[in-house]
Amino acid sequence: MSTKKTTKRTTSKKKSAKKAEKKKDIGIDVAPPKKECSDPNCPFHGHLKVRGQIIKGRVVSESSHQTVIVERRYLKYDQKYERSERRVSRYPAYNPRCINATVNSEVRIMECRPLSKTKSFVVVEVV
Ligand SMILES: [Zn+2]
Repeated sequence: MSTKKTTKRTTSKKKSAKKAEKKKDIGIDVAPPKKECSDPNCPFHGHLKVRGQIIKGRVVSESSHQTVIVERRYLKYDQKYERSERRVSRYPAYNPRCINATVNSEVRIMECRPLSKTKSFVVVEVV
């Protein structure tokens, strides 16, 4: 029995090692980045876990270090005047080195733990 257990352990270790070499499955249906990075805050190559909302928007600023500002434009219906008003919301999001989203690119961002006072999203895909 003991020998069987040891063999099982070694096989599981090998499998996990193989997975670590490849891109990590972050649990959502997005195309993984082509480059590799050694960023600890990268959801694909680091330790950052993603959960919660997924938002699609356009990058409007990349002036902060490893951070992009993502703008989302949407319509809010006004019942009294029976028409929609345009609204805009902005989300600071972490920009991993392997993705490296630039200004004017359409991106998908996903919620993660708070990385700073205002930043709790990370870029997961350039659409
Ligand atoms: Zn990465």
